[in-house]
Amino acid sequence: MGKIKVAINGFGTIGKRVADAVDAQDDMEVVGVTKTGPNFGCELAIKKGFPLYCTFDNKDRIEKFAEFGYECLGGLTDLLSISDIVVDCSPGKLGEENLEKYQSAGVKYIFQGGEKHDLTGLSYTSSANHKMNLNAQGTRVVSCNTTGLSRTLVPLYEYCGSLKVECTMIRRAADPGDSSKGPINAIKPVLKVPSHHGPDVMTVKPEIEINSLAVAVPTTIMHVHSIIADLPRDHGLTTEKIIQMWRSTPRVIVMHGSDNRIKTTAEVMELARDIGRKWGDLHEIFVWEDGVKLVGDRLYYFQAIHQESDVIPENVDCIRALMGIEEDWKKSVSKTDESINKYYSIS
Ligand code: NAD
Repeated sequence: MGKIKVAINGFGTIGKRVADAVDAQDDMEVVGVTKTGPNFGCELAIKKGFPLYCTFDNKDRIEKFAEFGYECLGGLTDLLSISDIVVDCSPGKLGEENLEKYQSAGVKYIFQGGEKHDLTGLSYTSSANHKMNLNAQGTRVVSCNTTGLSRTLVPLYEYCGSLKVECTMIRRAADPGDSSKGPINAIKPVLKVPSHHGPDVMTVKPEIEINSLAVAVPTTIMHVHSIIADLPRDHGLTTEKIIQMWRSTPRVIVMHGSDNRIKTTAEVMELARDIGRKWGDLHEIFVWEDGVKLVGDRLYYFQAIHQESDVIPENVDCIRALMGIEEDWKKSVSKTDESINKYYSIS
């Protein structure tokens, strides 16, 4: 079998990162990325050698790119005609409109967490339900928060056999490149109670009983989750055993905050920059070791999520699931991560 031909529809925050992660793999290739019009993002696509297409099929919109010196190879329909699968990285809520285009082109499709589960009737995270997504026509990689919750809760659930969770998402107000959102000088409770984040975990792992609240705070760099999980009686776990479990879980980093002077998300992001991925990304979920405590059957912990990047490797695994080329999620995860680290020369 040749390489899987991947289209990226929407080359923004998530799209440009997914394109790099796909480009790092030896079993798939980026056959094109779309931009709505000629702007600074086109420069990156050209520099990376990703064929550039227009999000729309209108002739005048396609021709506009040339006026700004960018070679645009056609519209979305042209791109879909040479693709096996499209990763939709458009802003949330455009899903329904785009889904029709993918279905009529007959390509497989992956949406992101800005879309509702109902759009596809199937959602994805690598550790929770890779098998369920094998050979499906389309799915949705859940949001950054839901991916983060799944990374630490799924292994805990697999060990205990039941789990009841209450958590608070302390959310970044905006991404670093976004000048249109807030709050700037306020703390904003999300007044949809419970928030969608916890229940969204149940779209990939329905066995976990979970609810959440959310608060937006004026930072751009990370989300923090404050989590309380009730384990069943006779779980046989200790705080240390749980920490060890997460240490051996893919895409989770556990570090002592006080000993390492990683007391806030600022230091976590500095650590991410030291790792050396582009944009200072942190694909892993960061758990503060000294913030984990099991009291009787109740577990308390904090974790931090790099909102722009934890879902990136999941999209690569999800492509393998939909194309039916790797049944074992752990094998896919290690192939994805090794390839990305090699791509960025991280030893
Ligand atoms: P973004 O605004 O940074 O990028 C979206 C890109 O899509 C832009 O380049 C935009 O020009 C383009 N676009 C606009 N209309 C389009 C259309 N009709 N079809 C295709 N492309 C179109 O948004 P983002 O942050 O990359 O978010 C993309 C998706 O990923 C959303 O569903 C979002 O909820 C989800 N997501 C975002 C984050 C995050 O922190 N940014 C994290 C996880 C998931």
